[in-house]
Amino acid sequence: MSAKTITIIKPDDWHLHFRDNGMLLETVPATARCFSRAIVMPNLVPPVVNAEMALSYRERILSARPNGSTFEPLMTLYLTDKTTPADIRAAKKAGIVAVKLYPAGATTNSDAGVNALDTLYPVFEEIATQNMRLLIHGEVTSKDIDIFDREKVFIDRYLCHLTRQIPELKFVFEHITTSDAVDFVLESSANVAATITPQHLLMNRNDMLDGGIRPHNYCLPVLKRSSHQLALRKAVQSGSKKFFLGSDSAPHEKNKKESSCGCAGCYSAWSALELYVQVFEELGALDKLENFTSRNGPDFYGLPYNKEQVTLVRKEWQVPESIVLPDGERIVPFYAGQTLQWQIAN
Ligand SMILES: [Zn+2]
Repeated sequence: MSAKTITIIKPDDWHLHFRDNGMLLETVPATARCFSRAIVMPNLVPPVVNAEMALSYRERILSARPNGSTFEPLMTLYLTDKTTPADIRAAKKAGIVAVKLYPAGATTNSDAGVNALDTLYPVFEEIATQNMRLLIHGEVTSKDIDIFDREKVFIDRYLCHLTRQIPELKFVFEHITTSDAVDFVLESSANVAATITPQHLLMNRNDMLDGGIRPHNYCLPVLKRSSHQLALRKAVQSGSKKFFLGSDSAPHEKNKKESSCGCAGCYSAWSALELYVQVFEELGALDKLENFTSRNGPDFYGLPYNKEQVTLVRKEWQVPESIVLPDGERIVPFYAGQTLQWQIAN
């Protein structure tokens, strides 16, 4: 007989995008509904490049929490070519837990990102010294590299070198999408971990391109072929401590997704946890769920497990077709209109 309820330690989301200002009134409550903490991406306009900006962003997030919520945002710094070891020390003092590396131009609002990785090695060393985490969007951005190959080329060009040069640096290879990334993480030391999104576990590029372009399934790194999807599913099924939950929930207004040049990102905050449960159930791996959602992440970051629990019940419900923002704009959530099998009990 299959389970009717699942109770787990309340999870954290180790990678997401809240955006800013009015959007926070939508994104923060959506995440606080089922996550205790979240690693908040710093790719605002302008990017969050120093401790002062991170602390004021944190205040804006805290004031968007629903009444009584104890949700805690974990703040990150946006690495640029100009970041110095002194910036890292100041960030650590301010309670910032991680530093985000975007290769310039890799995704939404990443124009200020890093052009030359090698020149930043003193900064990476300081991140290791301060016992902070480096979060890596692991794709090259050169236009001559095929978009489906960019993750593998990034591993070959940069990550292999980085792990050899600074083995003590703890970094998260974020939102991995390929069997190459799974292999790299498994073959690396315990200082290398990875997050995996619901969309990369649930879909492959056919779900984006077969029978018409589906802009709401377009994200970066882009969905890959099914053999890579299967490798990601095997990775979470294995129960390895190196993989943990990072939804990469990333809202864009409907008109910016459904456009002749649509934005990348899936807004999954309203369904991510339920979709992960669905995946683990399909894989016959529900016994591995709680480590993936609630223990592997805190262990890698050296943070305590959450004290609260969350219960999911087996109950069909439909993800809304769209969500109206406070300013009247709409967002189409990930899996809009589709029926899910699990729901959070309140
Ligand atoms: Zn992201």
